[in-house]
Amino acid sequence: MNNPQIADRLDALASLLELAEANPYTTRAYRRAAETIRGMPTPVAELVRTGRVRELRGVGPGIEARLRELVETGEIAELAELERELAPDLVGLGRYLGLGARRSVQLARALGLRTADELREAAAAGQLRNVPGIGPKTEAQILEALAREADSRPRSGTLLNRAIELVGGIAEALGGEPAGDVRRWRDSCEALAVVCAAADPAPILARFVELPQIVALVEQEERRAVGVTVEGVPIELVTAAPERLGTALVRATGAPAYVAALEPLPDAPDEEAVYRALGVPWCPPELREAPFCGEPPALVEPRDIRGDLHCHTTWSDGRTSVEEMGRAARARGYDYLAICDHTPAVGAVRGLTADDIRRQAEEIAAANAVLAPFRVLRGIECDILPDGRLDLADDVLANLEWVQASVHGGQRMPEREMTKRVEEALRNPSVRCLSHPKGRYINRRPENALNLERVFEVALEEGVALEVNGLPPRLDLSGEHVRDALRAGVEIVCSTDAHSVAGLGNMGLSVATARRGWATAADVVNTRPLGAILGG
Ligand SMILES: [Zn+2]
Ligand SMILES: [Zn+2]
Repeated sequence: MNNPQIADRLDALASLLELAEANPYTTRAYRRAAETIRGMPTPVAELVRTGRVRELRGVGPGIEARLRELVETGEIAELAELERELAPDLVGLGRYLGLGARRSVQLARALGLRTADELREAAAAGQLRNVPGIGPKTEAQILEALAREADSRPRSGTLLNRAIELVGGIAEALGGEPAGDVRRWRDSCEALAVVCAAADPAPILARFVELPQIVALVEQEERRAVGVTVEGVPIELVTAAPERLGTALVRATGAPAYVAALEPLPDAPDEEAVYRALGVPWCPPELREAPFCGEPPALVEPRDIRGDLHCHTTWSDGRTSVEEMGRAARARGYDYLAICDHTPAVGAVRGLTADDIRRQAEEIAAANAVLAPFRVLRGIECDILPDGRLDLADDVLANLEWVQASVHGGQRMPEREMTKRVEEALRNPSVRCLSHPKGRYINRRPENALNLERVFEVALEEGVALEVNGLPPRLDLSGEHVRDALRAGVEIVCSTDAHSVAGLGNMGLSVATARRGWATAADVVNTRPLGAILGG
């Protein structure tokens, strides 16, 4: 059993415990352990066998016992029992149709339903109104949702990192390839798809239904099916005869408008052959949003990145020391890493004062003595106060090697004030980069009211770069805004804002987001050697 499989089972257990209204601390603990395990380079099964799994962050005796059971027997008895009792397929279908998980469980219990099909039958037979708490209005909503089940869409998308795991795991299990929004690296994925080559589609469709990630089918045809996860996320499986695999991939990858503009697509075994037959240059998936058939630019690649310019350590809210972060960045093949811990105004977590910064500089110097020629840079993520001043004195900032400026508190400001606030900060000669410029949290918090056009003008005048923050719920600037920034002549920085060694792995998400904004290596500051960063 590999790490992603173990993590999936812990996640499933957390989802079902949530439905069973277990202690929220318990469910959160399972989710956190799942996240840790997913990011681990070493096989967790091995750690369980050698009794060392408790060394992992967030793994206590309770979770260790579950992991031992899972590794030794291949399943977790409590999970199997919850799956029997709570009918996850019904919950998955319910969520997909827009019903809350509790409501689905309530329906299942009241009507003695076990499966998604039984829910459909009960609804058709008019039994839903017999359930306490289901009024005529809710019944009508459910019936309507069931009627348009086939083209129902989830209400909010799945974050890119989770979608990559989900679709990647299913593609791997079926020997297929990830497609849909994931392959275009959309920040919030709605169309999740896997494409498989198969002369005979039946065995693959049968395996798809049996996957632990898929709890119910909402559509099934000869060559394709749509399944849902326990979270109600729909996943499309497309099978294509091997001689038409490329055609199916192009169709399942591009946004509808992009694909429509290329139709009719010729049959071909791989994508290159499809594009060749069309007489159109091959197009990177990240650019397949709007119709485009020209020569794509040479987009920035992950291997172009020479260093990470935004990360945290135990000095603020990070979980790893300066030296460990530096070592991990060096192991990634980077030349440099800027430590950018918070300043006091951030509030919720510890922030560094001028005195802390002096002491941290000693620790950085010691790390550099060990890690040379790799360089750890003395940086800061300095809060922009509500009036546009920075949270540290100018002479302290001037002494640092890399200064990020960030809006954290007071994000509800009207546009004029917010734009003025950011503009003011960018005028400070020490500021090199504006962090997560729009301040969004995908599906959770709207963007700050910030006039980006004005920010681009000032950034260009002051030689300040804009960040493409790689935290999965941020991805800020978005691809669309990266494109606007580049058109305005502004440079970008691809950063992870890592709070742990594993967090450094989000560089791929940042680079992909930059690619969605048509960025080339020349547009990205941290594709340059250390001298260019220090000389800037
Ligand atoms: Zn920040
Ligand atoms: Zn940060």
